[in-house]
Amino acid sequence: MSATPAVHGSLGRTPLRVGVSARHVHLCRDHVDALFGSGYSLHPKGELSQPGQYAAQECVVVAGPGGAFERVRVLGPVRSATQVEVSASDCRALGVPAVVRDSGDLAGTPGCVLIGPAGSVRLEQGLIVAARHIHMAPIDARLQGLVDRDLVAVMAGEGPRATLFANVLVRVSSDYRLELHLDVDEANAAAVSNGDTVWIVGGALSMPQERVGQVGSAGQEEPALRGQSPSVRRVLDLTSVPLVTEEHVIEAARQGLSVRVRAGALVTPLARDAARERRVELIPE
Ligand SMILES: [Zn+2]
Repeated sequence: MSATPAVHGSLGRTPLRVGVSARHVHLCRDHVDALFGSGYSLHPKGELSQPGQYAAQECVVVAGPGGAFERVRVLGPVRSATQVEVSASDCRALGVPAVVRDSGDLAGTPGCVLIGPAGSVRLEQGLIVAARHIHMAPIDARLQGLVDRDLVAVMAGEGPRATLFANVLVRVSSDYRLELHLDVDEANAAAVSNGDTVWIVGGALSMPQERVGQVGSAGQEEPALRGQSPSVRRVLDLTSVPLVTEEHVIEAARQGLSVRVRAGALVTPLARDAARERRVELIPE
């Protein structure tokens, strides 16, 4: 196999910026009062990339049974529920389980203790490792053919640390600007930092549906899978479809998939042309 395989192959790509979230705390009104004093107002220190969100001047201590972090930034504005966002590495240091959740989905998550200048709060829940996600304005979603809560795959970084992030949650709102949010562990894994460009390269990924035992030489490798594990062939299963069209093939190419075709299915001439041009293998059932 080539020492420097093409990473992206023929996959379609949509660029977006990455924003790396350091550990931080969102506070509810009651907890602002408890930590900083009754009626206290947070002081904006700098705007964040998402409209209306800001880093506050205020910091708190986040403490768990195994350790604590001092000077953890509070983000504003005040929310309806307090939420502490840390990395999985941070959870080890704090001595709590790393529970990956979407923002706001806090039921059953670990708690911690927050300490501010005016007092402390014991949270019964609310400490999460935020699930990786993309903020997207409606216009961007429309252009990509995506809707709120879709899952996509994102290619990040380059060279030896290039990383494919599967199952990235898409959140669509007119309050959002197009940006991928990763935590520090994820950013370090791919050696990317704030403002770097990454690419949406396909839809949701699941475990491979089929494993091809031994793929011998590089010559037998699926062209669209160059740069991925050579022992795994990912397939778009169209065996429920009597007619395979050009659109099917283009979508498979976009996701870097081969196409499994039902026995006796009609494959249009345009679909065959697209498969040849985009090097998408059509696999008989
Ligand atoms: Zn975010």
